[in-house]
Amino acid sequence: MFFSVRDLELRKVEFDTSFPPGKIDFLDPNLHQQGDLRTRGSVELLSHTLGELRVKGHLAVSMTAPCDRCLEAAVSHIDSDFDLFYEPASIAVEQEEVELGEGETEIGYYEGDGIELGEVLREFVILAMPMQKLCQAECKGICPVCGQNRNLTACHCEVKPADDRWAVLKNL
Ligand SMILES: [Zn+2]
Ligand SMILES: [Zn+2]
Repeated sequence: MFFSVRDLELRKVEFDTSFPPGKIDFLDPNLHQQGDLRTRGSVELLSHTLGELRVKGHLAVSMTAPCDRCLEAAVSHIDSDFDLFYEPASIAVEQEEVELGEGETEIGYYEGDGIELGEVLREFVILAMPMQKLCQAECKGICPVCGQNRNLTACHCEVKPADDRWAVLKNL
């Protein structure tokens, strides 16, 4: 779904749509969309700016990515409001290296004469993915000795206590 600046000059455009899996390319072979991504909101051209666009709305989607511990699919439900600002990429070149002050909204850029909703949503979903992805909170992970998924098989390997220095790093 593409919103052209020319249309936005006339009026704010509302959307209420869904993207089936595969419609948005998440550029990561490990990241998969489960079921439809549903979204509604609006795109507006902000007055008194050099073509700044505001994309605001709500998005709900379930994504799967490999579990950090056992590599089986871990589902992340994203159900979130978004309020994003985009400037023409041509302006970005002039404003290179501008540091954002605290509390300032991070601004994205769009190329050409408009903005593609699928690309906006892709970026938002990638950023909204949790840092830690687990198939279940109590995932037992893969046995470092025999390599079995310990959620499925209770092996009886003797695992030496982890070196504390590494344990600290893992918890970061
Ligand atoms: Zn797991
Ligand atoms: Zn084992």
